[in-house]
Amino acid sequence: MPSITFYGATTEVTGSCYLVRGERTTVLVDCGLFQGERFARARNYEALPFGCGAIDNVLITHAHLDHTGRLPKICAEGFTGKIFATSPTLELMNALWEDAIEIMEIEYQETGRLPLYSAAATKRVEKFFQGVEYGQKIPLSETDYAIFHNSGHILGAAFIELVIDGKKLIFSGDIGNEHPPIIRETEPLREAIDLLVCETTYGNRLHETPQQRSQLFEDTVVQTIKQRGTLLIPAFAVERTQEILYELHNMIKAGMIPAMPIFLDSPLAIKVTEIFRKYPEFFNNDDWLQQKKDHDLFDFPGLRLTPTRQKSRVINKIPSPKIIIAGSGMMNGGRIMYHLERYLPDPRNTLLIIGYQAAHTPGRKILDGQKWVELLNKSVPVKARVIAIGGFSAHADQKKLLSWISTAKEIGQICLVHGDAESMLEFGAKLKEHKLEATIPKYGETITI
Ligand SMILES: [Zn+2]
Repeated sequence: MPSITFYGATTEVTGSCYLVRGERTTVLVDCGLFQGERFARARNYEALPFGCGAIDNVLITHAHLDHTGRLPKICAEGFTGKIFATSPTLELMNALWEDAIEIMEIEYQETGRLPLYSAAATKRVEKFFQGVEYGQKIPLSETDYAIFHNSGHILGAAFIELVIDGKKLIFSGDIGNEHPPIIRETEPLREAIDLLVCETTYGNRLHETPQQRSQLFEDTVVQTIKQRGTLLIPAFAVERTQEILYELHNMIKAGMIPAMPIFLDSPLAIKVTEIFRKYPEFFNNDDWLQQKKDHDLFDFPGLRLTPTRQKSRVINKIPSPKIIIAGSGMMNGGRIMYHLERYLPDPRNTLLIIGYQAAHTPGRKILDGQKWVELLNKSVPVKARVIAIGGFSAHADQKKLLSWISTAKEIGQICLVHGDAESMLEFGAKLKEHKLEATIPKYGETITI
């Protein structure tokens, strides 16, 4: 009988890490970073709580650091197996690690705590990478196997079907929003499942519809132009940035907003957008594939890329109205920090929050209405307009999660992970209404199927 031990994302959204032990194989699903007030929390520095040498293979659902940020540690701790993920995930993972090391180096200046790992460590891990395709059967022993399915969350993201000791387990990874603008919609579950490990990031929330989302976004941009202000968009480099670029491209093309200076001020997001351009086969329909051939979804009049610090400094000199897209999405590191410090104290400006803000992050504090916020060791007044659009989230809301779960023929057990406690409790209650029982595992807890 397979057993699963939960080593992260238990009643919180970061640190996803699950160890599955079967009779013939042991696999690790995800190996994520614990994040919060600081980019990397102190507990990431502890040795991984299991013998890495005993793990045969690692399966990675998607590239986000809360699912992959501790992976470079495992080789130093004795792992020698394979790391399976889709090709875009492997490429994105490298880009995200490189950026993470830079952010941790900046934290080192502030806190004196060394980065969690070096570029050399990430290079060592790369040797174990093995690219997979959606739907491909990956043998893990004579009888056990894994299959990656499109989860519709970010480019290359998967939910993983794992058949161990004859039992079928599904690890949701992160499930995407309904009708994602660029990538394809989440695949259904179809068959009977013995255990579903399900994310609950937005288990207690409903997003705006795509139409409401576009309208809100358009209103925000138009208002910024009227006020001759600056619109700051802290964006996650993967998916959200590309969706925002795509949306702005459409609005300018349709004449809804005039071409204006729009800065993509994130070396990481610029690199990630390049990776998107390499994988049009992951985009959601033929029209877009066609459009991709003729035009560039992610380029349009007014857009300026500022990969270097020198180019980034020019942004300050450009008069408003203007739009600045920069990372990190939770406002706990990256170039957005300097822009927040400069633009938050002015009521003509707008801060548009489009992604999940984890507890204790500056982003969450601003979202919760705090009037002063601590940024780069300074107290900064929040006088700019703050607007949040949940519909840009790459995460399913409650309705989408329920409809995805309902695509399974039958489910034996459900374990809720990757969510705040209140989200899990509310989602668990919703599942009960649908005659499904869910448990909320604790950190280090093991369940047997
Ligand atoms: Zn994710």
